[in-house]
Amino acid sequence: MTAGSTAKVGSTSVMRWVGTLLGLVLSAGLLSTILQDRSARLQAAQHQSAAIAQGVDRLLRYEIRNLERALNGMAAEADGFAADPSHWDLPETIRGVISRNGELQDIDVFGADGSLLHGGVNAPTAASAVLQPSLQTGQLGVGALLKQGRAQPVVQLVVRTPHGNWLVARLRTSELQSMLEDVDVGRDGGTAIMTPAGVVLSHQGASLDYADLPGGLAEQPPRLHAGADGDLLTSLASSSGYPFVVAAALSRNEAMKPWRNYSAFAVSLLVLYWFGMFYLMRRMAASEAVRHNVHVELQRHADWLGKAQEASRAGVWAMDTGRDQVRASAHAAELFGFPRAEGMLPLKEFFNRMHDADRPRVEQAFAQAWESGSPFRAEYRIMLPDGQQRWISARGAPVHDHDGVLRMTGTIMDITVRRLQQSDLERAESQFRELFERNPLPFWVFDIQSLRFLAVNAAAVRRYGYSREEFLAMTILQIRLPEQATAVQESVDDQAEPRDSQPIWLHMTRDGRRMHVRVYSSSIRFDGHDARLVLAEDVSDRVAYEADLKWRAAHEESTGLLHLRTLLERVDAAHRGAAPSSPYAIIHIQLRDLELMSSTFGRGTRDALIRSIARRLQRIAEGHGHLAYAPADAFVLAITQGENWNDLVDALGAAFTETIESVTGVHRLEGWIGVAFQQPEELAEQVAGHAVLAAFEARAQNLPTMHYSPRMAEHAADRLATVHRLRSALANAEFELFFQPIKRVRDGSIIVAEALLRWHTEDGYVSPATFIPLCEESGLIVPLGEWVIDAAARARQTLGAWGHDGIAIAINVSAVQFMSGTVSSMLRDAHLRYHLPRGALHVELTESAMLQRPEMAQATMEELRRDGVCVSIDDFGTGFSSMSYLRDLPLDHLKIDRSFVQNVHSDPRNASICNALVALGHGLGLSIVAEGVESPAEFEWLAAHGVDCVQGYYIARPMPLQAFIEWVEANAA
Ligand code: C2E
Ligand code: CA
Ligand code: CA
Repeated sequence: MTAGSTAKVGSTSVMRWVGTLLGLVLSAGLLSTILQDRSARLQAAQHQSAAIAQGVDRLLRYEIRNLERALNGMAAEADGFAADPSHWDLPETIRGVISRNGELQDIDVFGADGSLLHGGVNAPTAASAVLQPSLQTGQLGVGALLKQGRAQPVVQLVVRTPHGNWLVARLRTSELQSMLEDVDVGRDGGTAIMTPAGVVLSHQGASLDYADLPGGLAEQPPRLHAGADGDLLTSLASSSGYPFVVAAALSRNEAMKPWRNYSAFAVSLLVLYWFGMFYLMRRMAASEAVRHNVHVELQRHADWLGKAQEASRAGVWAMDTGRDQVRASAHAAELFGFPRAEGMLPLKEFFNRMHDADRPRVEQAFAQAWESGSPFRAEYRIMLPDGQQRWISARGAPVHDHDGVLRMTGTIMDITVRRLQQSDLERAESQFRELFERNPLPFWVFDIQSLRFLAVNAAAVRRYGYSREEFLAMTILQIRLPEQATAVQESVDDQAEPRDSQPIWLHMTRDGRRMHVRVYSSSIRFDGHDARLVLAEDVSDRVAYEADLKWRAAHEESTGLLHLRTLLERVDAAHRGAAPSSPYAIIHIQLRDLELMSSTFGRGTRDALIRSIARRLQRIAEGHGHLAYAPADAFVLAITQGENWNDLVDALGAAFTETIESVTGVHRLEGWIGVAFQQPEELAEQVAGHAVLAAFEARAQNLPTMHYSPRMAEHAADRLATVHRLRSALANAEFELFFQPIKRVRDGSIIVAEALLRWHTEDGYVSPATFIPLCEESGLIVPLGEWVIDAAARARQTLGAWGHDGIAIAINVSAVQFMSGTVSSMLRDAHLRYHLPRGALHVELTESAMLQRPEMAQATMEELRRDGVCVSIDDFGTGFSSMSYLRDLPLDHLKIDRSFVQNVHSDPRNASICNALVALGHGLGLSIVAEGVESPAEFEWLAAHGVDCVQGYYIARPMPLQAFIEWVEANAA
């Protein structure tokens, strides 16, 4: 409750008190006035009655005195008459008096003894009732009232004459009556003239008698008596000297009538006052209750408003008329960072709080609202004293207040959160727009009804060559091939969502370029359209790549020919269900020593040669069948049509005899040709296998061409059986190492012993030359080689134990074993296992072992050198040896093959080769070992021509370790 309402309630209660008090005072005053007035009026009435009584009394006295005088004037005559009735003409005198005093009926004269001396008309006979002895002479007395029939009663007035006679005048009461007649005593009042004894002589109005006079007349004070009770206010007046009492009575009722009226009026005024007062109080109480209710309601509204403002985070403000002050609600002040209290704040302060960037705009909007009288709306930032920023939404409108003054009033709200959310939203939206627009893949949206583009992104514009405007005027059909229109429509009609397959379409760019596109799409609502969002991924490259892969899967890359597998599949497919009368042939062409060629002339030359041969063969094969290129340098030709086999095979042979020119010079490729015909029920793979066997056989027999025969299969089966036996031989420790010394020419010392493998069978020792190739083919060489390294190392330990530490053991490592990449670690392990010093083991590698993968070979050889393992190049001169690899590889010894050593002293060709090889090896800093030295002549020649070491039957044959040790000790230089 506010102070104002408290004051009002206070004034109401004051008014109530004042009203009541005033009413009480008024009531008391009025009552006392009424009472006073009553007694005053009673008094006045009493006075009036007294005055009336006195007035009448005065009249009466005047009258009576006249009569008394008249009577006393007759006294002498009466006395005279009494004394001498004849002497006196009393009747005459009486008549004269009566005629002068009409009120007298008659005058009687009585003697002192009471006898009637003269009696008038109706004179009473006895005077006793009249004569009053107590009367003084001249004194008037009143006698009894005489009622004379119907005539008016008369009252006897008696006077004693000086002689004691009595004059009795009979006074008509009508005379008295006339005295009373004009007296105004009101309707209910009355007057009476009585004798002191209370005999009423005359009266008017209310009849008065003794009963009216309490205590009786005699006891009353002689002059005036005011009656207090009863209905009459009575006053008595008694003329002095005359025995009359005049009574005047005023009706109390009548006398008090004005008072009653007055007091009735006053009381009714009072009642009216109280009534009015009561009514006023009631009204006031009621209006107070209403006001209280209104106030409570207002308060509640104010609370609600406050809470609503609080809840809505709204502050309320109103401009003062001066336009430079703002009345702000507590919340509004708080929103602006002012202390939280309702009050007036300068408008400038509000603007000062605004963000510099927003202020001019808001000021302008505010001023404009003032000028135009239009609503004011603004959103702006304010800088709070703590440096924080707050977003405010302000609304206002100029309104006329109840005084008709134009004021601006409105609300402000904190919209920081909304603005932040909005800006987040905008950011998110722009990010999504960016995602669409900047996506590197073409994106578009089209209407599924009209198929028109609704939006395209930059990538689409870039990839398809249409400008954005052109796109938006097109339908999606315009980027498709015309024949796809139906399929496109079907795809659009397909409601499936999400689409689990992303079909690849052929799209067309503006310049007619075709593009394989994988399309991802999903339905969306866009700008009120049922639309589809499409992501188009250009998969042309992938499609090309896949086609390429498919081609590659079927073709060999370097030659462009079919893979063997593909060829076989195709042959099988073509001959499935074909008549048995139309067999085909498969020709296997094994190229010779291509790896060595590539390491000699480079891979480029090798590939060029293969391609060149491939072209030749392709020409031959054309129209007859398929040609494939198989790994390990073989061509496979499937001849499905043609009769003249021999011509064909001759043509193939001729393809190899012709030379091939390449950047590195003129070359001739050699090959072995194996031919196999399909037998009934045979699959292509089997036929191809037969052709391989035939080619192997051709190679083994060094013939250009061989036809398959079942014998070859048997031979192959034998070889397979041998592999099996070799495998068990390894398990059964049937292998043994022989050792052959290598002698240094310079001092004849034995510096190396070559470990040579022997297979100890029931039939004696088997030469490694027969089984090593089989082991290589079957992969058995790897475990076998491991065994050799271990056995050689063990032997070296034994040698050491026998005191021959100066002799190293050379281990033959085949190409396949070397390529397995484990040789160096095996050697390292062996050194450790048998506690061998550095240089205890040597390795012999053939050219082919080094040249198949030159980089890897080089790395392994460098590793071996780091471990102190010397490397010899074995059988040197038999392959495509080239200077370049010799120069680059970390080699120690060069072993000249036995074939060049044979008869070197007598064969000039071998001599020149050996000379060249010695020069070459020495030029590269290698020591030269000559193998297969069988005769003293050969030895002499070699020693004379700079060979460093010799090995061969001339020195010693390979022998078991124990024999070797004995030999060494026997031949110690
Ligand atoms: P290779 O490395 O050239 O070994 C020398 C071959 O010539 C040996 O034949 C040896 O007995 C023979 N020989 C030595 N001096 C003379 C001679 O004065 N006249 C004649 N006619 N021959 C002589 P072997 O032992 O039959 O070995 C044949 C080939 O088997 C070896 O040729 C070598 O390539 C290979 N081989 C031997 N042992 C192993 C081995 O442990 N591992 C591997 N991978 N291959 C081995
Ligand atoms: Ca060797
Ligand atoms: Ca050799």
